Amino acid sequence: MTLPGAPSLARVGGALELDGHGLDGLGQRFGTPLYVYSRPAMLRALAAYQRALRGRPHLICYAMKANANLAVLQTFAQAGCGFDIVSGGELERVLAAGGQPDRVVFSGVGKTRAEMRQALRAGVRCFNVESLAELDSLDAVARALGCRAPVSLRINPDVDAGTHPYISTGLKGNKFGIAHDQALAAYRHAASLPGLQVVGIDCHIGSQIVQVAPYLDALDRLLDLVEAVEAEGIALQHVDVGGGLGIAYGTEQPPDAADLVAALLARLDARGHGARELLFEPGRSLVGNAGVLVTEVLVLKPGEQKNFCIVDAAMNDLLRPAMYEAWMAIEPCVQRAGAAVRWDVVGPVCESGDWLGRDRALVVAPGDRLAVLSAGAYGMAMASNYNSRPRAAEVMVDAGGVHLVREREQAERLFDGEHLLPGAA
Ligand SMILES: *Cc1c(COP(=O)(O)O)cnc(C)c1O
Repeated sequence: MTLPGAPSLARVGGALELDGHGLDGLGQRFGTPLYVYSRPAMLRALAAYQRALRGRPHLICYAMKANANLAVLQTFAQAGCGFDIVSGGELERVLAAGGQPDRVVFSGVGKTRAEMRQALRAGVRCFNVESLAELDSLDAVARALGCRAPVSLRINPDVDAGTHPYISTGLKGNKFGIAHDQALAAYRHAASLPGLQVVGIDCHIGSQIVQVAPYLDALDRLLDLVEAVEAEGIALQHVDVGGGLGIAYGTEQPPDAADLVAALLARLDARGHGARELLFEPGRSLVGNAGVLVTEVLVLKPGEQKNFCIVDAAMNDLLRPAMYEAWMAIEPCVQRAGAAVRWDVVGPVCESGDWLGRDRALVVAPGDRLAVLSAGAYGMAMASNYNSRPRAAEVMVDAGGVHLVREREQAERLFDGEHLLPGAA
């Protein structure tokens, strides 16, 4: 198996390097657990989409919930990217990182009125609306501000993306989007509301999708609707096919972004929609393979049934294994000689679900550093303070060097904002 994250990630001698920066040394210098991201790897992943879309009207909106570090957002904003946001907090981050609000699409099944106002004032490009009730609230909020809210309707195309049930979003029976057979009526309603301006149509069928076919099915379903909606005189400027393209964590072989884009463009052309603006909302595929989590081995605990390798990173730092039973590669930062033993790599959190990898053949000793690979997406973004554990530091590497882009959290800051009851302490 090649290293997921190659060619950015490579073994040089016995040492694991991310774009030329030794991970063991970074773990020593900044402490562990430590997220390390490669800026060039992120830009390469983005460039694959950009190249494939060259000459076509398009906008790539990075789905920032995958990794919302300001330096990551800045990297993409400077490369011309827009953003897919799902909260007012994410909008604040985009603006703080220098992103342009007119390249922001606002997704999410439960936007508050305050968030709607905030986004209207900022001037986002579009609201991806998920229900009739949301159309009505957004209309009221926009009219109160004396403006019109640009809207796209998120359609649930009822296609099976063939992924984990928790990250599948385009099937009947999940909470996302407007059912395909109610969409035309929803567009009529939207067009009748004076506070709204209909601008597009969108979908997002799931995450970690490793086939092109579900995307083509979803696009066909969207284009059927585009034709029906426009036949009623409601013009749609853009078609937004969402995100969800998978990455290789292990032996998966997802399509390249270039192949996915080419297939979608060919389908648009074949159906006579070649001039229409295409939006993408990739998250994982832009950042997942560009990051690793470095952790130190605390204790080895061989047992009768299982051997436990206890490390200083836990489910609060990286939730994917515990939450989705996700398999992520674990590699020693420096290879050592010896016979490999099978270990369950687990964290210190008081939950049996606190594991990073099971049954992994490793040669390890206490004090060694390990890297969990492909941790750039839904890693730090889902980190919590469970067990009062301060969140990890984050560094970004590029040709210019190593940049600390988020300081390690301090334990005493974790109870900022909490109050003891009055009386004797
Ligand atoms: C999460 C999400 C994305 C990005 O998904 P990835 O699998 O990270 O590419 C895009 N659009 C919407 C609406 C989302 O919720």
